[in-house]
Amino acid sequence: MQVRFWGTRGSISASLSAADVRGKVRRALQQALAQGLTSADDVDAFIDNELAFAVAGTYGGNTSCVEIDAGGDDYILCDVGTGVREFATRGLRKSGPGRDPVYNVFVSHVHWDHIMGFPFFIPAYIPGAKVRIHGCHETLEQAFRTQHSDPNFPVQFDDLMSSIEFIQLDPDQAHSVCGVTVRAMKQRHAGDSFGYRFEKDGKVVVYATDSEHDLGSTAEIDDLVGFFADADILIFDAMYSLAEAVSLKEDWGHSSNMVGVELAQRAGVKHFCLFHHEPLNDDDAMSEIVQETRRFAELSQPEDTVELQVSAAYDGMEVVL
Ligand SMILES: [Zn+2]
Ligand SMILES: [Zn+2]
Repeated sequence: MQVRFWGTRGSISASLSAADVRGKVRRALQQALAQGLTSADDVDAFIDNELAFAVAGTYGGNTSCVEIDAGGDDYILCDVGTGVREFATRGLRKSGPGRDPVYNVFVSHVHWDHIMGFPFFIPAYIPGAKVRIHGCHETLEQAFRTQHSDPNFPVQFDDLMSSIEFIQLDPDQAHSVCGVTVRAMKQRHAGDSFGYRFEKDGKVVVYATDSEHDLGSTAEIDDLVGFFADADILIFDAMYSLAEAVSLKEDWGHSSNMVGVELAQRAGVKHFCLFHHEPLNDDDAMSEIVQETRRFAELSQPEDTVELQVSAAYDGMEVVL
């Protein structure tokens, strides 16, 4: 399986400003002055090997949308935040003349940042295109319809030309989609959210965003560790620092990097991926959080266990399992 991140920001989209871009260009050029670069190849190597990601790239600003490519003819998407517009623009590898893919969407919950990209999801407008929206909330269809209704949006839901089906999932049962086994788990969040565990051919992807965790509850920890068990990648809501999560922003419905590392290590996860980034954090702040999380993971790694890989998802990131 492959995982592609089309939107990784939490709560609201956050784009770079002209001043942000200028700052990156200035730092790159300053660093390049001493390098004596003379060719395009030198420039590429300098960008790839010498510049920090916060200078050469960006974590991006689109809200939640993650593609899980299980290799078949159909698509699987987790959430349809603003990142789904990018997916529809650049990610339709399986579409085109003579092809008839199904777009399977799994919705963690219907807070606006997780569905706001759908009105700009081009396949929804294509006659005959098959869109299946899966979720555990009874309000799933109503939320999508309301978003398209007057005066929120000019195109009404019933005027969309594709064939759109809503599929209510039972979190207590395993489901099979595109040859992938999918399980859902209810999470602690305003109005509830649901994490999804995708398994195929011994590979496991867990998408667990918009969730706060109570590490004081043994039962809750056991449930989470079981749900995350042996995941090849755990995509985890680490919106806040631990200090924020246990003080000012307690009960705001999101978790922290430290809590995530602890759960991931207990569950034997291989790759822990920070997700749902706080819009206030710029690229430097994000890189600092990644470094801090890696230091914590090294210190807390239990003996005789495989080292936990730690990264922060960015828009455009691809992970091959
Ligand atoms: Zn969210
Ligand atoms: Zn939410």
